Amino acid sequence: MLVYNQEELARFVEEAKPYACYGKVADYIPALAKANPNELSVAVYTPDGEVVSAGDVTVKVTLQSISKILALALVLMDHGEDEVFRKVGMEPTDYPFHSIAKLEEKPAKPLNPMINAGALVVTSMIEGGSVPERLNRLLAFVRRLAGNEHISYSDEVARSEFATAFLNRSLCYFLKQHGIIDEDVEELIDLYTKQCAIEMTCVDLARIGLVFALDGRDPHSGKPLMPLDVARICKTFMVTCGMYNASGEFAIKVGIPAKSGVSGGILAAVPGRCGIGIFGPALDDKGNSLAGVKLLERLSKTYSLSIFGGG
Ligand code: GLU
Repeated sequence: MLVYNQEELARFVEEAKPYACYGKVADYIPALAKANPNELSVAVYTPDGEVVSAGDVTVKVTLQSISKILALALVLMDHGEDEVFRKVGMEPTDYPFHSIAKLEEKPAKPLNPMINAGALVVTSMIEGGSVPERLNRLLAFVRRLAGNEHISYSDEVARSEFATAFLNRSLCYFLKQHGIIDEDVEELIDLYTKQCAIEMTCVDLARIGLVFALDGRDPHSGKPLMPLDVARICKTFMVTCGMYNASGEFAIKVGIPAKSGVSGGILAAVPGRCGIGIFGPALDDKGNSLAGVKLLERLSKTYSLSIFGGG
């Protein structure tokens, strides 16, 4: 077993909590501003089905940018690698996640699917006849990954983002002007904000992390929930771009494929070993959970979890 007891994990949480005071909760999506900045919860899910957790793991977190990795997996399954990477690149960036700057250069193709411009392209590729149908396909996929058929989205958070997503609308208009997307912008923002508002607990996050850690296989049945190559591509993006423009530092200090979101959630996948879900809403200036990253650093060092080796 990875974490020997609940008390040890609880101790790590208490040690990481004070770092939250250096950050602040996201407030550009008004509904996210209601989060308690001092909250910190974590769940570790191992392949034998064991879950060790600390903090209040009943609290639900909206996925925000974490959803980008799940939409990417679905779209890779829908369209295949070649078609997806014709429209979105594979390179990390040191620009913030919502930057529009690169879209002004030629080609206007977004650098990667983890920044908003790239994620909007990916979401526009989710198959289905209408927004509800496409959202339901994504939700059905997410429920399979989490092994939880009750997962849904927060209408309040989705509406709050829809009402204020001016920057994301601007990105869409740039993409549309350059022929990278052709769908109606309001429809795309509707689907994207609902995708970002999908909510779940840390335990669900950890279980999805475990699916990626197991190369796309269901931890209980062993059945593939996504092809191995899709899991590999997603984990690679988690390493190169998963923690915004702090992914390099995170790779050195933690070394675990992970994706964070501005809600303060982090989904991490330790290949072959475990999935980790974290919720800590106080963010650093790049958009990562401050206490959450500290906690992952502690776990990585204590249990030698870095995929790059070392203690
Ligand atoms: N819904 C958020 C946005 O598009 C997600 C950003 C994030 O978590 O990084 O602004």
